[in-house]
Amino acid sequence: MVAMKMQINGKATGACGSESFDVKNPATGKLLEQVPLGTEDDVALAVEAAASAFESWASTSPQQRGVIFYRAAGLVRERKEEIATLLTQEQGKPLAESRNELEGFAHVLEYYCGLTGSLRGDFIPVPGNGYAFTVSKPLGVCAAIIPWNMPALIMGWKIAPALISGNTFVLKPASSTPLTNLTLASILNEAGLPAGVLNVVTGPGETTGESLVRNPRVRKISFTGESRTGIRVAELAASGMKRVTLELGGSDPMIVCDDANLESAVAGAIRGRFYNCGQTCTAVKRLYVFESVANEFVRKLEAGVKNLKVGNGLDKSTDMGPLNNRSQMEYIKELIAEIKEKEEGKIIIGGKAPEFKGWDRGYFFEPTLVSGVPDDSRLLKEEVFGPLLPIVIVKNLDEAIEGANRSSYGLGASIWTKDLDRVRIGCEQVNAGIIWINQHLKIAPEVPFGGIKESGFGRENGPDVLSEYLESRTIMLKT
Ligand code: NDP
Repeated sequence: MVAMKMQINGKATGACGSESFDVKNPATGKLLEQVPLGTEDDVALAVEAAASAFESWASTSPQQRGVIFYRAAGLVRERKEEIATLLTQEQGKPLAESRNELEGFAHVLEYYCGLTGSLRGDFIPVPGNGYAFTVSKPLGVCAAIIPWNMPALIMGWKIAPALISGNTFVLKPASSTPLTNLTLASILNEAGLPAGVLNVVTGPGETTGESLVRNPRVRKISFTGESRTGIRVAELAASGMKRVTLELGGSDPMIVCDDANLESAVAGAIRGRFYNCGQTCTAVKRLYVFESVANEFVRKLEAGVKNLKVGNGLDKSTDMGPLNNRSQMEYIKELIAEIKEKEEGKIIIGGKAPEFKGWDRGYFFEPTLVSGVPDDSRLLKEEVFGPLLPIVIVKNLDEAIEGANRSSYGLGASIWTKDLDRVRIGCEQVNAGIIWINQHLKIAPEVPFGGIKESGFGRENGPDVLSEYLESRTIMLKT
């Protein structure tokens, strides 16, 4: 085991306090790596490095920056198997999902290369003898705090628009998944990013994360994670007048109407809920099915779930890996215990940790379906980040929409129907940042992504996100 270092000013760096913390494999409980326990001094050094690199990076052309991105995307693809294995080992997801995620990371870099031509200002005709122009300038040092569920993809969403716009960056990964982020940062450096343009500091959110948000030289923070943490980040950022993007929790409803193609809805629900062991912000977290098709749908869903193979993500036959960390496992167990204790719901399938022989120290939990939960159940109110799907039977679309909108979250939602009127009504009335029709979970860097209500504000991806990393200056010229 080789201890992995932070990336500060283009160099692999240990922590100022020389301490480190363990990163463990969630499938085996075994130690995978040790990484530096970053301190406030390390954050200060990383921000200083990013600030020193800013002027020179901002004066490169967007096309030069794009060349580095293309090169990095190529290097990630060349090393995909090695990095996917690392991602599976630290995060738990099956190898196929890790490969997809890395492909997504490379694709994000390439997408922003294609947008370099749109980094420009405007010409505005004004009355009288003169002209008005706007020019777009990068902000300076930007930062992100990211979670452990999709560490590679979310890193791409944060760094790519910021760097291509000429900003420099400090990233704080989640403490259970820093290894893929450190590896990807070193690849970007190898691809030609000048020293200090991208820095990665590892360490606890409460200290390292907060001191990054507090640092007065950081001009923008992009955060993905739990809503309560997002509120804390927003409070700290507000006192420093910093820009913020918050991509927070979700409790996405999936509405299955009586005219839906049930086979594809069943496949959509299985992928939507159990991909990444249910730890996706836009996972299907509540299922509303019309009563006239409920029996058939639930029977088919149960049969599909029974076929899912739970195991170590490195095993080729695994469909669903472990939860990422102990607190996720404890949370899911607590919800199940509460259902049983209060007799509020029926466990159709799953509801316990699987019994393995030989390697049973991981955070495994069986894919679980629950029916008959009351409206005020925690399963319907909270962001359940794990393989647990509550099924609610509804009479019609009105009742489904009422249930869907009862959540304080508003990230994604899906409606499964062939009826265009139902599509229109659903799109108008369901409160969510993304509405899918006859699919769930599909995301792409070309498409704006983000939520409403407690799911946060600001958007990631798509061309408009560049304006989140640029400030417009107006020039008025008199001739
Ligand atoms: P957190 O919001 O605590 O963690 C996300 C990131 O924020 C991590 O990098 C974490 O660092 C950092 N962080 C934690 N506390 C602070 C702080 N005070 N200031 C600045 N940064 C901080 O989520 P958890 O990992 O605890 O997961 C708990 C729940 O959050 C999940 O069950 C799920 O419901 C939700 N979640 C939602 C995600 C989404 O994509 N919508 C993603 C991940 C979680 P560190 O790892 O060092 O603690």
